[in-house]
Amino acid sequence: MPADNNVMEKLVSLAKRRGFVFQSSEIYGGLGSVWDYGPLGVELKKNLKERWWRSMVHEREDIEGLDAAILMHPKVWEASGHIAGFTDPLVDCKHCKNRFRADDPRIKGTPGEPDAQCPVCGSRGTLTAPRLFNLMFKTFMGPVEEQAAVVYLRPETAQGIYVNYLNVLQASRQKIPFGIAQVGKAFRNEITPGNFTFRTREFEQMEMQFFVKPGTDGEWFEFWKAQRMEWHYGLGIRREKLRFHQHTKEELAHYAKDAYDLEYEFPFGWHEFEGVHNRSDFDLSRHQQFSGKKLEYLDPATKERFIPYVVETSVGADRTALVVMCDAYREETVEGETRVVMGFNPAIAPLKAAVFPLVNKDGMPELARRIFDDLRRHFNVFYDDSGSIGRRYRRQDEAGTPYGITVDGQSVGDGTVTVRDRDTLLQERVAGDRLVSHLGDKLKM
Ligand code: ATP
Repeated sequence: MPADNNVMEKLVSLAKRRGFVFQSSEIYGGLGSVWDYGPLGVELKKNLKERWWRSMVHEREDIEGLDAAILMHPKVWEASGHIAGFTDPLVDCKHCKNRFRADDPRIKGTPGEPDAQCPVCGSRGTLTAPRLFNLMFKTFMGPVEEQAAVVYLRPETAQGIYVNYLNVLQASRQKIPFGIAQVGKAFRNEITPGNFTFRTREFEQMEMQFFVKPGTDGEWFEFWKAQRMEWHYGLGIRREKLRFHQHTKEELAHYAKDAYDLEYEFPFGWHEFEGVHNRSDFDLSRHQQFSGKKLEYLDPATKERFIPYVVETSVGADRTALVVMCDAYREETVEGETRVVMGFNPAIAPLKAAVFPLVNKDGMPELARRIFDDLRRHFNVFYDDSGSIGRRYRRQDEAGTPYGITVDGQSVGDGTVTVRDRDTLLQERVAGDRLVSHLGDKLKM
């Protein structure tokens, strides 16, 4: 689909030009599939993380927050199954040295056999048989680089939650059902990364593990599935671009009882950006077995003991930011000119408003500055006094700033300003001293 590839190219270029996303270590030629967030990108991602935290932790009495360390005891990854199972079968081309997932649909023939054809250089018989490759990044703790000192950069945040489940339960005096939420970095040495920030080697996850009594897991699974879809609707993502995909028997992870991917239709096709999983009692049972510590729950009402089941919601902060950027990008013709607009929901837009003096004289810059100083105590706002007012509006359209506030000749006389809406282009006059509450109402979403 050339037209859609084009959209990705334009988005990547806008992301760099306007300071959403930069390639990591770009002056050294970049580091494969690692990205940095610039001034606008960091605000967008922070707003998404805060919104998730508010809906998961602050707005719910039955979920507690946690911030576990990235480095964990290596036994955690034995118990979780990551050391044995967190592998992708890979195929190398001995001729062009490219590496592929064994299930890469572009590979023709059987890797390892003479008929197999490399999808990049087209050579025949040069593909190796599939080999397993562990996706965890390994490093060493302490001064000696030896096997006994190996630690891993966590490939998911969930395990930090499982190993703290009893600590949180006791400290918070919660009762089952209850959940633990966490936002944090995860690392995977992905073999086939790409598509901009879609699959990266360092990323952030927003995960919530909900601990329930066995037998009630089906209901809670349905509950969380519905909640998560609603959350994405609330971000303003187009509904027709969102869908669930239920894992088939072949796709289900060994520990999972049921699993759904929440998918978005990216310009490069439908792909997962959140998983809702019924993980049964697999994780806690394994940690009980490997640590030798009892992780059972004693139901205070019935005196029953059991290992809770876990319903997990796991969404990538970076992937959600990519969904939001893809969904927001649009080109349109306004007054005979093409404009590029990032139509973010105002509540997650990096900048909430920009303040412009119409011209740099006659008291307008002084008043505009005063208004800007007042607003910046409440919202992330931007001041711009360079170029024509049309150009200044266009720059903010590209940044996705929902409101443009212009101080003109009338403002100096009566204290009112115009507020331009990014999407409708309508302008309304508002008293300068009412701007904080005016914008505050509009941004409550
Ligand atoms: P995939 O099949 O895309 O590799 P996964 O099924 O392994 O993903 P999970 O382990 O369920 O993904 O992780 C939950 C979420 O974490 C994903 O939906 C995604 O948003 C995010 N995520 C996982 N791996 C990456 C990555 N390499 N880069 C960016 N985000 C990721």
